[in-house]
Amino acid sequence: MSDLTPCVLAFMAHPDDIEFTCAGTLARLYKEYGWRVAMGTSTPGDCGSMELRPEDISRTRLGEARRSAAMLDADFYCIGGRDLFVFYDRPHLQRVIEVVRTVRPTMVVTHSPSDYLLDHEVTSTLVRAAVFCASCPNIFTDAADPQPATRFVPHVYYADPMEGHDIFGKDITPDFVVDITNTIDLKEQMLCCHASQREWLRAQHGLDEYVMGMRSWAAERGKTIGRPFGEGFRLHQGHGYPHEDILRKLLVP
Ligand SMILES: [Zn+2]
Repeated sequence: MSDLTPCVLAFMAHPDDIEFTCAGTLARLYKEYGWRVAMGTSTPGDCGSMELRPEDISRTRLGEARRSAAMLDADFYCIGGRDLFVFYDRPHLQRVIEVVRTVRPTMVVTHSPSDYLLDHEVTSTLVRAAVFCASCPNIFTDAADPQPATRFVPHVYYADPMEGHDIFGKDITPDFVVDITNTIDLKEQMLCCHASQREWLRAQHGLDEYVMGMRSWAAERGKTIGRPFGEGFRLHQGHGYPHEDILRKLLVP
């Protein structure tokens, strides 16, 4: 694939994390600007069931994630980690590097570095490291068909953490909020592809507000820009990473 085709890779810990945090923005990039979209997760969601064995719920959830990704004509990748055992280690990092080298994104979206689940935080760290490592030709992975090093480090954005809080309950203020009013319905359709997770949350937490929770958070973020629905982002601005805020320039008037 060409490095010249604008492409966004959303890489999060579990199936359905992308839909909750940034699918409305991915949909805008895809529909309004013709960007290529790719989606990836650290795990297949193997703990997401009260009844099914890990391999069975994993198969179900990977199918759900692929159906959701297909709504944006997106390729879907899972690096095969395990729920609650996502580590910053060599095997995980090598697999994320290989996804980055395969997709060759212009921009990457991942979890907030501080979030309620360690799988989210570790995935955020893996992505941050992988996009940098992917451009180093002397870093090798164990892939059967390893892809060449990327030519540049993509722009890295962090989506809102769960409920907009860090682990101390303090608000994390996004750099900017993208208006997703025109794509909230598509975001909901993508989320609803994850039928098994909706049922699992209901069973585990007595929570029957999978979709309503997503919509109410998007509405809260939208309120900050005077629009019905929004998604918040922060740009990673560490040394060696691009500082140009291209997502804001593209989607925020
Ligand atoms: Zn998650």
